[in-house]
Amino acid sequence: MLLTRLVPENGESPTSYIQRISKANCLFPHDLWRSVLDKKARYPQSNMATLIDYVPAAVLNINDLARISGVPKDSLKKLTFGPAIKKFLPSNVGDEVLLSTRVSSGLIGQSRKYCPLCLTEAPYYRLIWQIKEINFCFWHNVQLLDSCPNCSSAINLLGPRSIIGVCDKCAFSLHKIKPKPLNVNKKENRIYCRTAL
Ligand SMILES: [Zn+2]
Ligand SMILES: [Zn+2]
Repeated sequence: MLLTRLVPENGESPTSYIQRISKANCLFPHDLWRSVLDKKARYPQSNMATLIDYVPAAVLNINDLARISGVPKDSLKKLTFGPAIKKFLPSNVGDEVLLSTRVSSGLIGQSRKYCPLCLTEAPYYRLIWQIKEINFCFWHNVQLLDSCPNCSSAINLLGPRSIIGVCDKCAFSLHKIKPKPLNVNKKENRIYCRTAL
């Protein structure tokens, strides 16, 4: 059991939550991940982190994560895309089918997008930012960023030493950039209007 226990924030992605509880307990995220690793996985891999936000049981033992975090397993699962996607599928579709059919590959991005203003207000990554087609912030009407403004690197979903709001490569504070307002002629705004109807 971790000494410092945190409650997941509203709409927080599991990869964000793991980063927050790691930092609160002076651990690196991959060390925490290693401590709850699934038997099938030999070691944490950044390029597998997208599965934590989709079907976490594929890459970690969710019972162990529930035990060390103090957050019930069902509450952790509700943070992921899994339950939302299953609503559109027959009730007997389980995690194995979701994984084998790769329902997520067209929907969910492999690296982090973010709104600097949201990060300033509440430093955690929202799950909705990982949907490929969503390129704007619902709360601030600005474009989401998909890389570090300082070094242009993509932001890992869960790198070995990831810290929320900080670039893995150059340690730039991601909230220190002023995001661009939505451009009414751009595709993302059309998606916004459709979604808002
Ligand atoms: Zn925002
Ligand atoms: Zn950077």
